[in-house]
Amino acid sequence: MERISLRAPAKVNLRLDILGKRPDGYHEIRTWIYPISLADELYIEKIKTARITISSASPGLPLGEENLAHRAAALFIKARDLSGGIKIEIIKHIPLAAGLGGGSSDAAAVLKAMNILWGKKIPSEGLMELGARIGADCPFFVVGQGALMGGKGERVLTVLPPLKAWLALINPGLPLATKDVYQQGKWGLTKQGGDTRISMPPQELEKMGKFLHNDLEGPALELMPIIGTIKERLRAAGASSVLMTGSGPTVFGLFSKEAEARQAAKDLKMEQGWVSFVANTFPDE
Ligand code: ATP
Repeated sequence: MERISLRAPAKVNLRLDILGKRPDGYHEIRTWIYPISLADELYIEKIKTARITISSASPGLPLGEENLAHRAAALFIKARDLSGGIKIEIIKHIPLAAGLGGGSSDAAAVLKAMNILWGKKIPSEGLMELGARIGADCPFFVVGQGALMGGKGERVLTVLPPLKAWLALINPGLPLATKDVYQQGKWGLTKQGGDTRISMPPQELEKMGKFLHNDLEGPALELMPIIGTIKERLRAAGASSVLMTGSGPTVFGLFSKEAEARQAAKDLKMEQGWVSFVANTFPDE
């Protein structure tokens, strides 16, 4: 096989707890994440020359070594000591710097695709290790299903049961850098032992309101108060519960039925620059 196409899904964090700052400067987190049906499309081709090329029509997307898909390809080539190269086309549907994990997901898709193209020689733990060197969310996308993640977000603590939910997502059309949100939050050093509770999200959406929580929402709101307005609008449009995903600024509202999510996205009073998406948490069904 010489070519492969893959979907690289976005994610939502149903819950994200900061347990504290670690001596190495990173934050110790616990986060319950699900992949969603909103996805980028990647077309990946094996080439004989030792080059990595990325093409995309998406404005603002870096196409050189800063692209996480490029980093993934370079790491894979080094890990397998390959002589050839790779051509990657990315059709972006996931907004950039949105808390939806688009870059990490593209990188994970490249690792998976290259592993298939070069004969599946790296087991999934090996791909996750490579992924962790690219970004904290990358190992989650290698797993590709709902998971509770620990460490900086790169450690799979447990795989979660499938979840049936529809989402209306609103992005204000402005990027928010993960680093800035962490810097805005003031978290002390991790307590010895930390909180290592593992709980499962409820399967009933009516009970989800109590479970949803994101420690990054407060600092993100300070940097971008419009997040609060989006939350109010989604609530008013009928979402059973509403939360910012990851480091924001995208906000999602939960719905049990597709028609409800679509209606809410339609009824919602949008402001200039805002972008809406309807997606679900069971993309592989
Ligand atoms: P996370 O929630 O994992 O922090 P995010 O969704 O907030 O991620 P991304 O869209 O993954 O943020 O990317 C953040 C930055 O990374 C972008 O501003 C962009 O410059 C850079 N980047 C590098 N490669 C990619 C890629 N393939 N897709 C999107 N962004 C990329």
